[in-house]
Amino acid sequence: MTFEYAPAPESKSIVKIQKEYGHFINGKFVKGKRHFATINPATEEVLSHVANGDKLDIDKAVQAAQVAYTKVWSKLSGAERGKYLYRIARILQERAREFAVLETMDNGKPIRETRDIDIPLVAAHFFYHAGWADKLDYVGVGTAPKAYGVVGQIIPWNFPLLMLAWKVAPALAAGNTVVLKPAESTPLTALLFAEVCQQAELPEGVVNIVTGVGETGAEIVNHPGIAKIAFTGSTEVGKLIAKAIADTKKVATLELGGKGANIVFEDAAIDQAVEGIVNGIFFNQGHVCCAGSRLLVQENVADEVIKKLQSRMEKIRLGDPLDKNTDIGAINSKAQLEKIKELAASGSAEGGEAWSPKCELPKNGFWFAPTIFTGVTQAHRIAREEIFGPVLSVLTFRTPAEAIEKANNTPFGLSAGIWSEKGSKVLWAAEQLRAGVIWANTFNKFDPASPFGGYKESGWGREGGRHGLKGYLKSKEQVM
Ligand code: NAP
Ligand code: MG
Repeated sequence: MTFEYAPAPESKSIVKIQKEYGHFINGKFVKGKRHFATINPATEEVLSHVANGDKLDIDKAVQAAQVAYTKVWSKLSGAERGKYLYRIARILQERAREFAVLETMDNGKPIRETRDIDIPLVAAHFFYHAGWADKLDYVGVGTAPKAYGVVGQIIPWNFPLLMLAWKVAPALAAGNTVVLKPAESTPLTALLFAEVCQQAELPEGVVNIVTGVGETGAEIVNHPGIAKIAFTGSTEVGKLIAKAIADTKKVATLELGGKGANIVFEDAAIDQAVEGIVNGIFFNQGHVCCAGSRLLVQENVADEVIKKLQSRMEKIRLGDPLDKNTDIGAINSKAQLEKIKELAASGSAEGGEAWSPKCELPKNGFWFAPTIFTGVTQAHRIAREEIFGPVLSVLTFRTPAEAIEKANNTPFGLSAGIWSEKGSKVLWAAEQLRAGVIWANTFNKFDPASPFGGYKESGWGREGGRHGLKGYLKSKEQVM
């Protein structure tokens, strides 16, 4: 007997969205000149109009951040800075539901995820870094390390507030001030975070948020007052940034794309692995840089794994992101949907076999059914390029050595998963894999204490943990 789910929509009443937003500069919202719409990708409803920042806006924000750095923030003790971070963390917890609903509306991801994963992790990042603010001597860059000054931060749309937290919390803990640009399609939680900064009475100019498009981000990158760039986004833009700062004194951390291999060995607990495969590729509609988007499964268990995966996928619920029962929400934008469709079409054209469970896609908004491709070879585009959507490419292998060879055969090196009952095999495989983050018998687990980042075209540097903090501090040699 099967039971139908009744709709369980989360109320939107907690969220107050203004018709129009300006930039948050020097502790105040200032009027923008030009504006663009941000929409709810599940309904295509316009939520608000936000300002499109230009060179002048970035200038003002950098100036405010410079003054705040020299006059206030760099003069405070670590313990004092920590107090502000604790205050922000507590306010984020108090307003968690408001943030979760707003993030779901602006991004399209399920409320189950914003409520249980994104927002709790955001608060955890502020709590964690608050604890570090007065212990910077122990970060590992020598005693009395110095902040860079003004840090420029540019973030993507897939985890809008979480990427802000990954960037703002360590920057402030280390004593920097920031100018941050959220992604074009998901600016609203960053603007609500600006209100939290006001509520926490964070000294003005310590956090500045300028909304805008790609060019606004480029203005941050090229501004002479910025000492360090922290960027999360595509490898393509990461390369542009690396080129732009090549002959300057600016430093950068770049968190870029990925094509993670999720490797299932014959001795794995198959049911558990199937859960991990689903979590690895369908979490956040597959808009995850560390997604397990390439399944490498040992040939003798491949049929069983695929059969069980398909049966599990039949139970995935796609639809209204505000419904608490929803597993897969909307694709973040029309442009992203088109990119996914184009790559999926190439998968079929190149000989892969697509399979999706029966699922009705809503009429409005941007949607893509969870899909797996079998019969994929390493030459196929869907095995090499990042799709950034709910599409899994399945490849098989015969020996552990072949699994490693295939897993490492990618220009990226962000994440990998290993499913095996044998600890020795897990450790052996982890040592061979060229990936910054490796999960064993689990996938997509995040913690502020754990560094995250990639090899090769997946980026430079780490975020989170002691390693992440290092990226916001100058060693004695750098200061001299
Ligand atoms: P994107 O196009 O690179 O955009 C990222 C951010 O950079 C956005 O704020 C964007 O503004 C801005 N931007 C665009 N062009 C720029 C330029 N020339 N100079 C400076 N900034 C510029 O990436 P996306 O499509 O939004 O995000 C998806 C990508 O991010 C995927 O490849 C994914 O793997 C990667 N990602 C990586 C991680 C990680 O930790 N490694 C985490 C999440 C996502 P607009 O929004 O206005 O275009
Ligand atoms: Mg939006």
